[in-house]
Amino acid sequence: MTGAIVTLILLPLQFAGDRPMLLFERLFSGGGYIQIAIIAAFASVLEYHMLVPGRSGWWRRFSWSLFSAVFFLQLILGIAVDKIFLMTGNLHLPVPALIISGPLYRGELSVMTLIFLSAVLLSGPAWCSQYCYFGAIDSAFAGKKARSSPVENRLALKNSFLVLAIAAALLLRIAGAGKEIALAAGVATGVAGLLIIGFITRRRGKMIHCTVWCPVGTLTSYLKHINPFRMKIENSCTSCMLCSSACRYDALTPSDISSLRPGLTCTLCGDCLPSCRHSSITYRFPGLSPESARKAYITVTLVIYSLVLAMARI
Ligand code: SF4
Ligand code: SF4
Repeated sequence: MTGAIVTLILLPLQFAGDRPMLLFERLFSGGGYIQIAIIAAFASVLEYHMLVPGRSGWWRRFSWSLFSAVFFLQLILGIAVDKIFLMTGNLHLPVPALIISGPLYRGELSVMTLIFLSAVLLSGPAWCSQYCYFGAIDSAFAGKKARSSPVENRLALKNSFLVLAIAAALLLRIAGAGKEIALAAGVATGVAGLLIIGFITRRRGKMIHCTVWCPVGTLTSYLKHINPFRMKIENSCTSCMLCSSACRYDALTPSDISSLRPGLTCTLCGDCLPSCRHSSITYRFPGLSPESARKAYITVTLVIYSLVLAMARI
């Protein structure tokens, strides 16, 4: 079903605007149809595997890494070869924090900010488990299992970095700082993020960049509640804590489990489901059974994933 939905949404893009939205169409006439067929087929393969809880984690991480690789490959080709690889023809710094800071500094919304807000509205926190080009790097460095205790004062740290990103952008705007200074601040933010991934995420086996440092991750943690999908821990939970090491987002601490609700940083990734012997962790959506809610969430996230993959250009 996902492949058919993806095809129906992507087909009109073949005819939208003067500048083709689909990359293959820019490369040769009719190429957009081939790209749609490839992406729809890939979406169907992902759906087939991800509906099986035991396979979902591997395929999610694989598809996320692939998206990130496509994104950065297009960036390199856009810089080194031809601007047709860039969505708008203009270059933007690929640092997630700029999804927030960029519009505040410029005083206007960016395409990436609109894509981010739409994704959160439709699929809650899936931006941080499946669509973000940077988060896939944090995920890869975290490894497969969380290896350390919860981060202390995480909430205070998260909120501080979010406030810092907003304040810095506004200050640069008010001070009339030029593009060079704003660019330098953006590059410094990206480099700091990469250092956190390389040194802290890798050592702790948890996605510290995404759950502590990244202001977009923090904003997602709050904004995700506008979407009705939820993750719940049922009363059948025995507090064995086996699920805790499956969560690299640090959302299954002892207090989260005792409150029967994954923590603020839960991205509904589903990695913890197979680890629970009592099937106590379930997806929720009003009016649907937990299993139907899980299937619906996977379908929604895969459709959006396929769309951002089809147009993964900056
Ligand atoms: S926390 Fe930031 S870097 Fe991580 S996935 Fe979310 S937006 Fe991307
Ligand atoms: S609690 Fe489960 S669904 Fe939520 S982020 Fe952790 S592993 Fe993913």
